[in-house]
Amino acid sequence: MENIKVSVDLNKCVGSQLCIMFSPTVFERDGNGQSKIVNRNGANLAEMLSTAEQCPQCAIKVENTQTGEVLFPPPELAF
Ligand code: SF4
Repeated sequence: MENIKVSVDLNKCVGSQLCIMFSPTVFERDGNGQSKIVNRNGANLAEMLSTAEQCPQCAIKVENTQTGEVLFPPPELAF
C-alpha cells in the first residue's frame, strides 16, 4: 500500500487475533500473544480499514504517510 502506514499499539492490543483472522497476510501472532505486522503490503486499503475497524481495542492505526492523515481510528475512537 503506497503511502499507507499500518501500525499496532501494543499498549492496547489484547491479543484477540481478530486482525489475524481478517487479514492473515498482514498480521501474525507474536511471542507474547499480541499482533505483529509481517507484511505491510499484504492487503489493500479497503481491507486494512475494514480489519482495523474490527479491533476491539482500536489498536490498529492506518495513516496516510503523504498527508499525515489518520484514516483510522477516527478521533472519537482514539483513546
Ligand atoms: S484485533 Fe486488535 S486487539 Fe486483537 S490481536 Fe489484533 S491488534 Fe490486537
